[in-house]
Amino acid sequence: MTTETIEAMPQHTAAPADTHLCLVVPCYNEQEVLADTTLRLTQLLQRLRHEGLATRTTLLYVDDGSRDGTWPLIEAHAQAHPEVKGLKLAHNVGHQHALWAGLTWAEQHCDVAVSIDADLQDDIEAIPHMMHYYHRGIDIVYGVRRARRTDTWFKRTTALAFYRLMQMMDTGVIYNHADFRLMSRRTLHALLCFEERNLFLRGMVASLGFPSAMVYYDRSERQAGESKYPLRRMLSFAIDGITSFSVRPLQCITYLGLVCMCIAACVIAYGLWSYLQGRTVQGWTSQLVSIWFVGGAMLLACGVLGEYVGKIYREVKHRPRYFVEQETHPDNPPSQPPH
Ligand code: UDP
Ligand code: MG
Repeated sequence: MTTETIEAMPQHTAAPADTHLCLVVPCYNEQEVLADTTLRLTQLLQRLRHEGLATRTTLLYVDDGSRDGTWPLIEAHAQAHPEVKGLKLAHNVGHQHALWAGLTWAEQHCDVAVSIDADLQDDIEAIPHMMHYYHRGIDIVYGVRRARRTDTWFKRTTALAFYRLMQMMDTGVIYNHADFRLMSRRTLHALLCFEERNLFLRGMVASLGFPSAMVYYDRSERQAGESKYPLRRMLSFAIDGITSFSVRPLQCITYLGLVCMCIAACVIAYGLWSYLQGRTVQGWTSQLVSIWFVGGAMLLACGVLGEYVGKIYREVKHRPRYFVEQETHPDNPPSQPPH
């Protein structure tokens, strides 16, 4: 069962009587799960309308340049269900940018958006709870994973290490919260004002500061298909998160440099003292070790600096985040990438 906690008390009055809810679902090669996901989400939306938690609903799939049959399937589902809509991005831009594309559309057309992964590993039963919070005036509701029993040991350990590191680096990320969250239109509007191209949404949303709440849920297994976040992508996501939100690694390099200087001063003093004592120092091992150690530390420091320089390079180019190639129900005006 899903339990919940209010993090901040509401600041504004209840949501409007007519509430248009949009579920934003990024998809990359998700043909195996789409049928089941559509069935479960459309049933949920129907229930939400029935219970009066939403008056109008849209299920928005953002196809992130899939190479399998994901887009034709989205088109077929959009034909079959009037509330299903699809955006096809021109090429694979990654989960965060695909989500951004969906949230941009939602901000233009809906009152409130909930983002969720296509494999429905996140508990959809948390969405009605999120909507209750929304109607009580909460702007952001974070879905927080309570347990990771279904994850492999490796995934669980690396994910927890990731959140700990994020907290140590002052990124403001909420422990065990990924990209399953509700956002009101005004928070979407605020989010879309961020100009950066290096997107790390869970840090960006946490920095918005509107009234927020948390809903806890158990994460289940992927129904079908495979994870699009292997170790390599997880590592690059973690590095992105840290370097987009924190300058602490740069401070660490400075501290490391200071520590090295202190050690060097001691070593110099020891060397001089040994020289004055007239002792011959063998020195080969210590030299070898220190050369490798200092070399490694310098390369690491250059790498960290390079990460930030690379980020600045990408930001100054100011390229569009994505291009929409196709849209289902094209009678609606197509959403443009923000500049
Ligand atoms: N995804 C995406 N673009 C990508 C990679 C992933 O839109 O380049 C989507 C994917 O279809 C899924 C979500 O991002 O809906 C999360 O991916 P996944 O479930 O594979 O990640 P995991 O749960 O293993 O961390
Ligand atoms: Mg998943």
